[in-house]
Amino acid sequence: MVNTTIKTTKSQEIFATAQNLMPGGVSSPVRAFKSVGGQPIVFDRVKNAYIWDVDGNQYIDYVGTWGPAICGHAHPEVIAALHEALEKGTSFGAPSVLENVLAEMVIDAVPSIEMVRFVNSGTEACMAVLRLMRAFTNREKIIKFEGCYHGHADMFLVKAGSGVATLGLPDSPGVPKAATSSTLTAPYNDLEAVKALFEQNRDEIAGVILEPVVGNAGFITPDAGFLEGLREITLEHGALLVFDEVMTGFRIAYGGAQEKFGVIPDLTTLGKVIGGGLPVGAYGGRREIMSMVAPAGPVYQAGTLSGNPLAMTAGIKTLELLQRPGTYEYLDQITQKLADGLVQIAKETGHPACGGHISAMFGLFFTAGPVHNYEDAKKSDMAKFGRFHRGMLERGVYLAPSQFEAGFTSLAHTEADIEQTLAVAREVLSSL
Ligand SMILES: *Cc1c(COP(=O)(O)O)cnc(C)c1O
Repeated sequence: MVNTTIKTTKSQEIFATAQNLMPGGVSSPVRAFKSVGGQPIVFDRVKNAYIWDVDGNQYIDYVGTWGPAICGHAHPEVIAALHEALEKGTSFGAPSVLENVLAEMVIDAVPSIEMVRFVNSGTEACMAVLRLMRAFTNREKIIKFEGCYHGHADMFLVKAGSGVATLGLPDSPGVPKAATSSTLTAPYNDLEAVKALFEQNRDEIAGVILEPVVGNAGFITPDAGFLEGLREITLEHGALLVFDEVMTGFRIAYGGAQEKFGVIPDLTTLGKVIGGGLPVGAYGGRREIMSMVAPAGPVYQAGTLSGNPLAMTAGIKTLELLQRPGTYEYLDQITQKLADGLVQIAKETGHPACGGHISAMFGLFFTAGPVHNYEDAKKSDMAKFGRFHRGMLERGVYLAPSQFEAGFTSLAHTEADIEQTLAVAREVLSSL
């Protein structure tokens, strides 16, 4: 690291070796710290709200393995349940009752879901849901929003936010034109643009997919009436509305954004939290639509490790923990304190800033704002964010290494952790 005040010798050694072994030295791009101008920290273990690197430094973690760790890392009850499941083996490749249990929990929780299919990642869930949208409507075009990320499948790699935005790639080479030619894009929070697309493509649009609260272009909330408007427009045109709740599901409310905002989509994708830190994704929706999925119907989709007993176990235990009284009140309380505190401290120390939170998801932009869409988000001072990120890291606070990612809190973050974080933020922001 440049100008580091902490010892990172082992991190540097391991990452240097990794760069010869794996592209960019990582298994997923944002982890390489490119947009914050540093070199990544290599980690050794996680527990509660904390993460320790290979040099022994401890950090308060606001990445939470990108969302799954909402109960805190390595929760003792999740670990115990996993130990027990492990004794019975790691994979069946056949039905298990654990799938019924998690399916019932998901169906009970998420208003739009009457039937669900488990897969292994959010990317897979979004790929599958797209095929289903097209099959059900017998139409090919879809609308997505600029800055929304729906995994790395070809059809979604258009103005895709997250890692793609972080690296400044326009789209990706290797994606055939045919794969994205049916993907229409509109600015987030712009109903008029969506209406215009429906007018220009009459009876050709299968549906609209979006992050109901954006976390992959930084944290952006839907304007009043936006989600409702999309529900109306899609109904009017015989198109489907799909909420990608891979990030927001069980995070901004137990039933996700659809519960929070009272707008019910036709289909929903899930991931992250429902795997409790193991690889899980899911998609679900109205029975009539889900009945088209193989083998009940003709729309093919399969997976060797789908419904894996370890992954189901971690998901079940995580959702059980979230059902306990006071969960979302607590998450809201600490996250509000953090998000409001960061904006206030930034302003007090002379930095234009805006940000916010919903439950356990938050964001901070270095622009006076307001931020309604990806174009607005890009006005944030990226260089300043990089310096802020590094300053926080050197003082023991681990934030997502990109301006275009939301931050996550967990049940394991204490009031003291939040206060410590704000004190550190004041120190860093005063020095920028
Ligand atoms: C993380 C994410 C995905 C992709 O999930 P993976 O498990 O990383 O494949 C898709 N959509 C949204 C909204 C996400 O946040």
